[in-house]
Amino acid sequence: MVDKPVRTRFAPSPTGSIHIGGMRQALFSWLYARRHGGQFILRIEDTDQERFIEGSLNLIYEAFDWFDLDIDEGPRQGGEFGSYVQSERLELYQQWANWLLENGHAYKAFETPQELAQIREEREKMGKAGYDGRARNLTTDEIAQFEAEGRKPVLRFKMPREGKTRTSDMIRGITEFDNSQLNDPVILKSDGFPTYHLAHVIDDHFMEISHITRGVEWLPSLPLHWNIFEAFGWEKPIFAHLPLIMDDKGQKLSKRKTIEGGKSDVPVIVHDFIDAGYLPEAVTNFITNIGWNFGDNQEIFSREEAMKRFDLTDINKANAAYPIEKLESINQYYIQAMETSKLANLLKPVFEDAGYTVDIALMEQVVPIINTRLKKLKEAPNIAGFLFADWAKFEAPPAEWMIHKKSTAAESVTILQRVIELIESLEDFSPTAQYDAFKALAGEMGISNSVLFTPLRISVTGKRVHPPIFETLEILGKDEAIRRIKLAIDQLQKIVSN
Ligand code: GLU
Repeated sequence: MVDKPVRTRFAPSPTGSIHIGGMRQALFSWLYARRHGGQFILRIEDTDQERFIEGSLNLIYEAFDWFDLDIDEGPRQGGEFGSYVQSERLELYQQWANWLLENGHAYKAFETPQELAQIREEREKMGKAGYDGRARNLTTDEIAQFEAEGRKPVLRFKMPREGKTRTSDMIRGITEFDNSQLNDPVILKSDGFPTYHLAHVIDDHFMEISHITRGVEWLPSLPLHWNIFEAFGWEKPIFAHLPLIMDDKGQKLSKRKTIEGGKSDVPVIVHDFIDAGYLPEAVTNFITNIGWNFGDNQEIFSREEAMKRFDLTDINKANAAYPIEKLESINQYYIQAMETSKLANLLKPVFEDAGYTVDIALMEQVVPIINTRLKKLKEAPNIAGFLFADWAKFEAPPAEWMIHKKSTAAESVTILQRVIELIESLEDFSPTAQYDAFKALAGEMGISNSVLFTPLRISVTGKRVHPPIFETLEILGKDEAIRRIKLAIDQLQKIVSN
């Protein structure tokens, strides 16, 4: 345990929306910081300019806003350890890279890409990988000669060649790496940009990061980072390498994935979840369960509950499955549990995006009759859009839908005419009063409930699948209900007179 204040960070490269594995890492770092009353920092790692995607910072902030994860220091928050964007810190990296050079921990290397390819090829034949460290032996004269020719060097870190590097990790314990297996990596490129290896060590040191959580794909580089910290003589943060998230084939979950059969995409980046209409509470719950579990066989828990129990040491070492099918039921749970007015406000823009004009008071009436049917917010307009459509534009559904299989078009017309009379006569238009009255009408006409309700349901909703009919009628009101039933009658008459 470190006794210094807990400061964790999320350090994405600006390559678009955040991958769900990255978001889980951010969430775990955030939970850990919050649990320990520490700070959570966002740092943008943009030293690999080729991978830069315009607009990424906005997408990253949108993701944090959506999840409602507050950031203590970052590009937009500022903070005393800024800048929080690596490309604005080049001088610092260059200064410390030079320090390594001057103190014998790094060296200049001048190989061209072609020469490097050739070295790699030769070494492959000998069963070895990577660079062989030959520029370690350049003399001062040779270096001066290269520089006089205008060649720009890279700086490489001098890894120890013998012995072992013994590392520790909160999740994985002690790991020993054979130094003879490691090559001298580039830490500063010839254009003056650092590589990840150098930049993050410097940043994590100067930003006083106490715990580095990151994907296990970085574990093989840990001995390198360990040795860079040692070369500088800096205290190392505590490392926690998180397990990978795997797809259903046991492969690392990549950015895009298609469900078997190719029908729909599995959400993988944060904006997929937003677009599909999942709730942030549900996605938070879902990803907290990947590689960590709450305990007591409890699958549904709030972020605040998780925070009280969360510890990096409890994260599972093994790579974790991505049980996306569970997300729908978790989401459904959160939709049902949500307060009416909150859900109404969340659904408003979803309906508006689908082209409906939304009155929030009406939405609050609609929420209780659809909330148990929704797995995702995006499904709502399809189920209940007819309640918001510009009513003048409502079109009667196809006549065939309004005829029960044991009935005829003419009978449907008669039923609907009787239904109109009944609706006009009802003083109490509440769902229970309607139910009693319609049932009595069916009895009087000598027909089954379903023969009566089929034309009624479909005439007013225009849909075969819709929310409960009596509540729907109550929301529409008598006049609009009757107007729609009349449209339906006209439609049915066309068949009758044929
Ligand atoms: N920029 C690195 C990445 O996106 C960060 C890794 C880390 O968290 O140190 O993978």
